[in-house]
Order: sequence, then C-alpha cells, then structure tokens
Amino acid sequence: MKPIIFLFYRDLRLLDNIALIRAVETGKPIIPVYIHDLSASSYLLEGSVSEWWLFNSLRELDKSLRKLNSKLILRRGNREKVLKNIIKATDAEAVYFSSRYCGFENTEDEVLSKSLDVPYRRFKGYLLSEPEKLRTKSGTAYKVFTPFYKAFLEAQEIAEIVPAPKMLVSPRNWPETEDIESWNSKTRNIDIYDGIGVFWSPGEIGALSRLEIFNDVVDNYNIDRDRPDLDGTSMLSVHLHFGEISPRTCWRRIQKPHQNEGRSAFLRELVWREFSYNLLCQYPDMETQPMQKLFLHFPWSEKTEPLELWKQGMTGYPLVDAGMRQLLKKGWMHNRVRMVTASFLIKHLLTDWRLGADWFRSRLIDADPASNTASWQWVAGCGADASPFFRIFNPITQGKRFDPKGNYIRNWVPELKNLPNKYIHEPWLAPESVLDKSDVFLGVSYPHPIVDHKFARQRALDVLAKIKR
Ligand SMILES: Cc1cc2nc3c(=O)[nH]c(=O)nc-3n(C[C@H](O)[C@H](O)[C@H](O)COP(=O)(O)OP(=O)(O)OC[C@H]3O[C@@H](n4cnc5c(N)ncnc54)[C@H](O)[C@@H]3O)c2cc1C
Repeated sequence: MKPIIFLFYRDLRLLDNIALIRAVETGKPIIPVYIHDLSASSYLLEGSVSEWWLFNSLRELDKSLRKLNSKLILRRGNREKVLKNIIKATDAEAVYFSSRYCGFENTEDEVLSKSLDVPYRRFKGYLLSEPEKLRTKSGTAYKVFTPFYKAFLEAQEIAEIVPAPKMLVSPRNWPETEDIESWNSKTRNIDIYDGIGVFWSPGEIGALSRLEIFNDVVDNYNIDRDRPDLDGTSMLSVHLHFGEISPRTCWRRIQKPHQNEGRSAFLRELVWREFSYNLLCQYPDMETQPMQKLFLHFPWSEKTEPLELWKQGMTGYPLVDAGMRQLLKKGWMHNRVRMVTASFLIKHLLTDWRLGADWFRSRLIDADPASNTASWQWVAGCGADASPFFRIFNPITQGKRFDPKGNYIRNWVPELKNLPNKYIHEPWLAPESVLDKSDVFLGVSYPHPIVDHKFARQRALDVLAKIKR
C-alpha cells in the first residue's frame, strides 16, 4: 500500500490533530515528517529561543510517535525539494497537513499544491474558526474586536476534540532522517547557559499538564490575569503557538464543567488569538506596514542608545526593566508588562514599533506572526482596532496598580530587592539614607530614568498632534 506523508508544521501534537487522524483513518501507512526550512521567509529566527523550543518539541513528538509504532522523519533544506525527494523515495500517494495562515505560508502552500505530483491536502486545526468564515453583515472581514467576538460566539458551538491515534501503520521503507542534535549548535546550549529550560516543558505532554495546572486557578483569571506578580495566566501561548495543544482542547477543557467570569475571560483571550489571525489574513503585510496610514510618516526617533537600554532592561523604570529582563531570561513576558514595555518604547522613547516587534520576535518563545504584530500595532495606536496613541501607559502607576508589593520587580531586578515597597516603583524618590540601606546606588547599581515621564508624555502627544494636522 502506498503511504501518506504527514507533514507537521505548527501542529506538533497527536491529540485533536484533525489532519493526522484523517490520514490515519485511510488505513494507509503514515510517514510523519518535519522539514526545517528557515529560508522560506519563516517568522522563526535561526538560533532563537523559539528555535530551541521547536527542537525540543520535535524530540518530544518523536518520542510520542515511537510509542505508536512510528517515528518522526527530520529533514532540513528547501521544503519543496526535500518533500519531492521523500515522495519519490517512498512512492507516497499524498501529503496531509494542518492549515497555516501567514502570507508567505499561503504562497508556499499554493506552490506546493501545484508543483507536487500528489495531492497536498489541507485540514483545519490551528484556529477555532477559519478566518474567512466570520464576516460582517456587509460581507467584509472584521476590523474591530468586540463585534468579531460577538459574531464568533454566535457562529459556533466548539466541536468535541478528536482523540489521538492509537497506532500508526508503518511504511515498508522509511526514508532517511537527520539527527536533530546536529541541526544547530547555536540553540543547543540555551538551556544549559541561560537556564531557560528550568521554566518550561516543551512538547505535547508539557502543554496538557500546563492546561491542567491552569484549570486549577482559572476561576480567578478575570481578577489575577493583570498581575505579573502572580501565576494567574495560563502560560499556554508557547504551546498554542507550536500547536502542541489545540485551541479547541483549551476551549473545551476550560468551558467545562461550569461557566464563570474567570473562565469566560480566558475564552475571550483565545478569541483575541483568532482576531489576530483574522487581521493577518486581511493585512498580509502588517509586519511592516501600519494598518492606519496616518502612521506611515510618523517621525520616529533615530537614536539607538535608548532602544539598546530598553532591550537590556536598563531604562531606570523598574516595571519596564523587570519585563525586559523577564523576556531575556524566560523567553516570555506577562501580557500586562508586554503592553507597558511596548508603550514605553513607542511613546516614551518615540521608537518605531517595528523595532520593538523585531526584538520581541527574536526573544519571545511564543513569537507569533499574527499576535506579535497585531499587538504591537495595537499598542502603537496604528492597528485596525488599536488603543489610541494618546493613551500612554504610566510605568509608575501601572507598577503600583498591578505589582502592588513590587514582588515582580524584586524577582527580575534583584538590585532593587531591598528597597521598601514605598520606593520600589520610583527609586529616584527614595532619600539617600534609604538608598544606602538598600544597597542601591542610582546611576551605578541601577540607572536613573532615561527619560522623564511627564516630559516624554507631552512630547509624544505633541508629535501626534503634528502628524494629525
Ligand atoms: C506587545 C505585545 C506583543 C505580543 N506578542 C505576542 C506573541 O508574539 N505571541 C503571542 O502568543 N502573544 C503575544 N502577545 C499577546 C499576549 O501578551 C500573550 O499571548 C500572553 O501574554 C501569553 O501568556 P498566557 O499564555 O499566559 O496568556 P493568557 O492570558 O493565559 O491567555 C490565553 C491565550 O490567549 C491568547 N492571547 C492572550 N492575549 C492575547 C492577545 N492580546 N493577542 C492574541 N492572543 C492572545 C494566547 O494564545 C494565550 O496563550 C503580545 C502582546 C503584546 C502587548
């Protein structure tokens, strides 16, 4: 019997993998394949923490497949060429895969569906709802979240998840595979040198156990989700990004057994993910182009030093620095702090949002072409349904409100850990005696603020007024 190639993309799981189960249902031998191809203008960057995660996730996937009498074939290189080689070597009769949505991925899928000699069959699963499905009454795609969310809830009951296959029929001949250990010496040591591995469990098992951990606290999600000092959010974004868990599995698990504000608030966030993909499909060039054309000629600052200080978490604003250092150490940042740090870069430092988005792309494990870009445009005020540019987060009051005891700051900015709560968000207001006692030497052990908040706020508003004229 001719085999089917199952091509994994960002669906590195067995549970609720519709494409995989459809392939298995044919009763034909299955060849699970992953082709690592960064040349196809992939959003994933070589040597990044995101790539480190991917390699670990692939190892986990291979382990799970081996329990089903199968294994993962790993190859690198031009996807089209490699795929054609595998098809030829195995005499495969079709390629099955889960949908993807970026412009460059769609282009590649079109090329593949035309150039392969066998059917290239696409199945849904990365999103809860296909972006083209939800339309306004006038037939256009949604640009504003709230009506999108309403339409989403009205349009569908989220279906039951499909089980993981119990066994995969092996092909008579396996194609050659590569050793993942040889793939990239740059990412191999990330867990050893940066300690990032202690925070995370890449792979499907890690994803499912994270969902269970979150299920124990989700009832308070609506209250705790804005508090970076608490473990109040799901931390599922990375698992969702790599498709180690389906959004449907998350939805069904959290929706049951009862609804309350915490659970509803979480489900709403999952719909933000859908909304970001809906925007990406409407604005395929949104990574580089502001959705609001007013921002095309925004006079962004050319200075590079403030950007570098922001990247390293050395702005002198404790909440901003804590977030940027969490990003460096953990490859992840709490949503509230993502908003504050992004706003600080764009509005306090007048730095182009694209430079911030690039930095997040290189440092976030969950770096996602839709959510990262849409969120940066949202904060900058140039997105389709954006927070207006004149809404400028105050990093001090945000800190006082969402990290009231400064525990988040103390965790990520340890040089401030001895400061009393009263000064943790504004060390520059502390009397000399308090600073001395706390071992804080402003300008030496911790920087003075790189810009004055009031001044920066007014400057940003003035620039906005100018471009609006
Ligand atoms: C400047 C900026 C950049 C961002 N970049 C990314 C990114 O690259 N990848 C990414 O997945 N998210 C991004 N987000 C959205 C959000 O910050 C993260 O999804 C969230 O912090 C992940 O943590 P969590 O899984 O604990 O989230 P939870 O609060 O538990 O939310 C559950 C899930 O909902 C989705 N979600 C939540 N908020 C959003 C949102 N605003 N937009 C889209 N989906 C959302 C995520 O998949 C998340 O895992 C960004 C936000 C900002 C402000």
